[in-house]
Amino acid sequence: MKILTLPGDGIGPEVTHEALRVMQAADRRFGLGLSFSEALIGGAAIDAHGVPLPETTLTAARGADAILLGAVGGPRWDGIERSLRPERGLLGIRAALGLFANLRPAILYPQLAAASALKPEVVAGLDILIVRELTGGIYFGEPRGIRVRADGEREGFNTDIYSESEIRRIGRVAFEAARKRGHRLCSVDKANVLEVTVLWREVMEELAPSYPDVELTHMYVDNAAMQLVRAPRQFDVVVTGNLFGDILSDAAAMLTGSIGMLPSASLDEHGKGLYEPVHGSAPDIAGQGKANPLAAILSAAMLLRYSAGMGEAAAAIELAVGQVLDAGLRTADIHTAGMQLADTTAMGEAVCAALG
Ligand code: NAD
Repeated sequence: MKILTLPGDGIGPEVTHEALRVMQAADRRFGLGLSFSEALIGGAAIDAHGVPLPETTLTAARGADAILLGAVGGPRWDGIERSLRPERGLLGIRAALGLFANLRPAILYPQLAAASALKPEVVAGLDILIVRELTGGIYFGEPRGIRVRADGEREGFNTDIYSESEIRRIGRVAFEAARKRGHRLCSVDKANVLEVTVLWREVMEELAPSYPDVELTHMYVDNAAMQLVRAPRQFDVVVTGNLFGDILSDAAAMLTGSIGMLPSASLDEHGKGLYEPVHGSAPDIAGQGKANPLAAILSAAMLLRYSAGMGEAAAAIELAVGQVLDAGLRTADIHTAGMQLADTTAMGEAVCAALG
């Protein structure tokens, strides 16, 4: 299992370093046979090579079985031309690797229930996985644009379009993910209004007989948004298109209260993936040892589960994170009265120690 790390910028290298140490600890404990290499992306690549995604990085990414990314960007590179900005490196690698399935878990460790904007009894123990289609739908559909009508008025337009095969491949990822979790899949659409999602619903139904151990339900997106804040624990896995997924995954993420706790994965057709914390490079705290490494560490656990089929090691890392929180250790972003303040390194070390 060849793992490429792309630490990137700001707190990216700090949190990636801790995630790498945790993977090495898991490798020692479970004998996983992992090998690691590192390459540049984002601002760090601009400084060294003048471009945010050097060819050498892309070659290394293509040759790896999975990729762990920190974060890219920062004020230092904000002034340069748009096509050469650090964020272009991230968009470029996602496109080049054909990463069409975005997996965003929203897990609220019971120890952090007070950090959520919702009442603790509504969110304690929350564990949702949102599977979002990432490369189709209205964000990419053609025709699109702003035009002037014959009467002189301007109008803007986009096209929401999904082919059967696009729906089927994201559906399969979601059904497979549900199999690895609570065996319940909720497909979110707007089939009462949008034909594109009538097809979406039909294709999900066509897939269902291949996964008899997974219970498939459907929900309109407006209701799903409401249910996410009313009774979020009713969901196990949610699958939806690009636009709805963009919005619902952010809403679900915020149920957990802290951006420093949120991992993500983007997968290709073969299960190869790019794993990264949801947060950015946090230039305001970079270099100060204040970054919470748990989102990166939980991204590493996802990598082991989804790209390496090493579910046992992934679960052990997640358990270790829970034990560290149980012990009262907190980085500044999740710190509350009575808890022990830890820096980035101490948090990573504690997870490694809990892993054994
Ligand atoms: P951000 O996520 O970097 O930071 C938002 C706030 O959350 C900041 O106050 C930061 O200190 C805090 N925060 C973020 N991660 C944290 C962590 N692990 N521990 C503790 N606190 C944490 O978002 P931003 O400030 O809007 O963006 C900063 C830079 O990151 C920009 O250049 C942006 O383009 C880039 N960015 C990159 C990615 C990515 O690489 N995937 C995602 C979002 C933003």
